[in-house]
Amino acid sequence: MSEPTSCCRVSDAYCDRCELLVGLGGLHVTGVVRDDGGGLVVTVESAPEVMGCHTCGVVAHGHGRVEVDLVDAPAMGRPVRVRWRKRRWVCPEPACPVGSFVEQDEDVAAPRGRLTVRACRWAISQLRTEHASVNGIRRQLGCGWRTVWDAIRPILAASDSDPARFEGVTILGVDEHVWHHVSTKPVEEGGRGPKELTGMVDLSRDSQGRVRGPAPGPGPRTVRGDLQDLAC
Ligand SMILES: [Zn+2]
Ligand SMILES: [Zn+2]
Repeated sequence: MSEPTSCCRVSDAYCDRCELLVGLGGLHVTGVVRDDGGGLVVTVESAPEVMGCHTCGVVAHGHGRVEVDLVDAPAMGRPVRVRWRKRRWVCPEPACPVGSFVEQDEDVAAPRGRLTVRACRWAISQLRTEHASVNGIRRQLGCGWRTVWDAIRPILAASDSDPARFEGVTILGVDEHVWHHVSTKPVEEGGRGPKELTGMVDLSRDSQGRVRGPAPGPGPRTVRGDLQDLAC
């Protein structure tokens, strides 16, 4: 790990320019370092505030920090890690079952998530509009295939079951292709599953006459199922 480069933090103030650059809502940048692989590690924290226990409402006591590293979307051609120094609190109410709790912000990352929300969004956008593979995405993020897939799969599954995905579709196509060339061992056994993929493609045109692209979905499924969804 290289020596930390100085952020623009002066005394107790946070730096507006760093926050504009990093853009993580209510989190403030307190440092940036370059990691051994040439990526960036951006350390962030929330501003101090009075925190009430979510269960009993009593004012909680600060109880140190927990550092969580999140895979963020690449920036300026480099993989990025967000090192979030999460605040931890203890509820002082003896009758309250909470004990200690750690700050969460689901606009930044899902609880126990390993990718930031915007990294998930970026990855899905790469799949949908840039013809990227999960392997290509994980190379750009500098993390493992499973880390990417475990983060985006539930989001893709949720959008797959959302009937709103067909809104505005006026032309629907069917696309069949071989999506990998390795063993068909089931995914549950660590394989890649079926080689062939049948997908639905939104062939509607946008205002500039461009095809809008694949209808969102997590992977192989039946065309009949998709058409039934569409008919609902
Ligand atoms: Zn700064
Ligand atoms: Zn409590």
